[in-house]
Order: sequence, then structure tokens, then C-alpha cells
Amino acid sequence: MSRQKIRSLAESIGNDTIQLRHFLHSRPETAWKEVETSKKVETLLREWGYENIHRGFNETEAGVTADLNIGKEGPSIALRADMDALAIMEENNVPYASQNPGVMHACGHDAHMSILLGAARVLASIRDELPGRVRVIFQPSEESGIVSGANCMIKEGALEGIDAIAALHIWSPLETGVVAVRPGPIMASADSWTVRIFGKGGHGAMPQDAVDPTLAATTFINSLQTIVSREIDPQEIGVVSVGKIIAGSAFNIIPDSVEITGSVRTFNPAIKKHMPEMIKRIADGISAAYRCRAELDFTSFVPVTINDEKLTDAFIQSARKTVGDDRVCTSPLVMVSEDFSYYQEQIPGLFFFLGSGNAGKGTDHPHHSPHFNVDDDVLVEGVALLAGFALDYLAGK
Ligand SMILES: [Zn+2]
Ligand SMILES: [Zn+2]
Repeated sequence: MSRQKIRSLAESIGNDTIQLRHFLHSRPETAWKEVETSKKVETLLREWGYENIHRGFNETEAGVTADLNIGKEGPSIALRADMDALAIMEENNVPYASQNPGVMHACGHDAHMSILLGAARVLASIRDELPGRVRVIFQPSEESGIVSGANCMIKEGALEGIDAIAALHIWSPLETGVVAVRPGPIMASADSWTVRIFGKGGHGAMPQDAVDPTLAATTFINSLQTIVSREIDPQEIGVVSVGKIIAGSAFNIIPDSVEITGSVRTFNPAIKKHMPEMIKRIADGISAAYRCRAELDFTSFVPVTINDEKLTDAFIQSARKTVGDDRVCTSPLVMVSEDFSYYQEQIPGLFFFLGSGNAGKGTDHPHHSPHFNVDDDVLVEGVALLAGFALDYLAGK
């Protein structure tokens, strides 16, 4: 099948796809509450002949998976969109602005859903010509950071029988229609940690009767940066940040303890794995030197997003056919994290950025800004890219 045919199918449903995005944009729902959104998705997929439809994950009514060509011989690919909006008050003055005050699709997940629905519709219309099976995954809770929708859906079987998976993120810093991708790591891991340093409280005027944990805490915070400057290979990337310090209650009291909370990000799973040991060693060693004691809680949030090399090569070829050679570029490493990484831990996965920035239309505001919006022109490109890649993957070219 020619790429021109995929593109004209995407264009033929272009207005519907735009309307759908506006509909979803006006009815945003936050993580694990994407119930009305999921019902809408389910209704459309049924209409287009999808089977094996499963709605409701993690004991909620949110999230949908559905299959095309079940039982057909050949390879299988899953395409995934995330569904959750953010707790942000929209400041855009558009007819389709959020009708749910304080909640807004400010990351482009409304576009992800409408693009995936468009691709699902295009693929359904050519199902007999597809040499394999397609699963669409509409995933709740990408943003929450605590209970990952990807992780929950995988545990409930969303990847069973699937050979590879692909997804995109709309990207406002990139010009509309430009595709950015890279093999290997593309987005960082994100973890959080809390160190508690215990001393012995006392009068601020009589430190000899107390064991001051604030001194240990400040020294610990300073020394923490030696992880990046002295322990990690200078050619690797790592960030260790402190975001919160809780200690004390009055000017003249030495507190009993100090609690320090922070985050770490990296593109190397080996560094991520080593991080708790490094933080704990510094916390323990410095606390001991100051007669204090330290405890560490380390919470792994999201792994590194790592693109499969073969799949990335195949995608680059496919994307060039769809948008043209000059519109496909190498993505920089992006320090933000993405729970698509959980799928990639299970099967080969491909994640790419699709530019939606257009200063003339005001769609170049940063993600998570109350002024964020998507250039609707990008939707047809997204539909053609996803449907075209699914077709190329199944056809093995
Ligand atoms: Zn986001
Ligand atoms: Zn996002």
C-alpha cells in the first residue's frame, strides 16, 4: 500500500480528528479518573469494528485496550496513547476550552488520543490488507508519578501476544510536523528519595548537650553533589536535586531530626540502580561523623525511556516516507521522564516526538503551562505517522 493512500485516508478523517481533540480537550480528566474519556474511546473503537475490547484497569473504569485482526497470522504491534489531564486552570480563550475548572489537557494527551483514534480508524479501514494484528492501548495516569498507568496495564495483560509497541509525544518546542527520535535512551528516569538525619534536640544556646542534625544535613546536601561531579563518569548524565528540607520549630531550639527530600534523573539504568547506595553511603558517613544517624527511603518512579535500535531504524525509514526526509531529525536527550519506559522493559518499543509548535498560532507555550495548546495541523501528520509505521512494521519493511 502506498504512503500516499495512508496519507489521504488520514486527511479524509482530518476534520473528525480535530473535532475529537476539541471534544476531549473540553472534558479533561485527571489520572485514574479518565472514565468518560475511556467510554468515548470504547464507543468509537466498537463502531470501527475493534474486538477484544477491555475497559477499566487498576480497579477503575479508566483505560481501554482493543484489537484489530484478532486471530490473524503474522506479527503484532501495539500503539499507545496516554489519557490523563493535569490539575491546571486553563487560560486559553478557545471555544473548546476546559469545562472542568482546574483541570486541563496541558501536555497534549488530548492530541495523543485523537491521533491514536485516527490511526485506529485508518487501520480498521484497511484491516484486510494488514499482514498482522494491531492493538491500541489508551493508558490512564501517565502524569501522576505514583501509580503508573503503564505499569498497571502491563500487569493486567495489555502486552500479551504483542511483539512491539510505539507511541508519540506532541512537542511544543519543535516546529509543527517535525519528527524527532533517537535510538537508545531518549528520556530520563525519575526517582525520588528522602533522607532523615536523627540527632538529639536541645537548647540552641547549649549545643554541647545536643547532637545537631542540621549541621549533618547541610554537609550531606553539599556532599551529595559529589555523586555527579566525582562518582559518575563525566561522559554520563545524572542529576541529583534537593526539593524539600523539613527541620525545626523555633529559632532557639536544635531540632531532633532533619528530613531532606529530592529527586534523581539519569539516562543510564546502571547509574539509576547504583543511586540508592551512593546516597545512603554519603548520608550514613556524614551522619556518623556528626554523631547522628541517617535513614534513606528511595522510591523508583519511572525507568529510562530506551528506544529499541532496530525499531528506531525502521521507524526513521517509515517516517521519512510519511513526512519527508528533511522533517525527521535526531532528538536531543530529554530530561523529562515518560512511563512508556515500562512497556520498553517488556518488549521492543519506539517513542518519538512530534513537533506542534507554531508561534503564529500560539502553540509554542511549554508543556504544563496554562496557555499550552496544540496546532491542529499536526493531527493528520500524527495519524499518518502511526498508521504508516504500524503498516510498515507488520509488513516487515
Ligand atoms: Zn506532561
Ligand atoms: Zn505528556
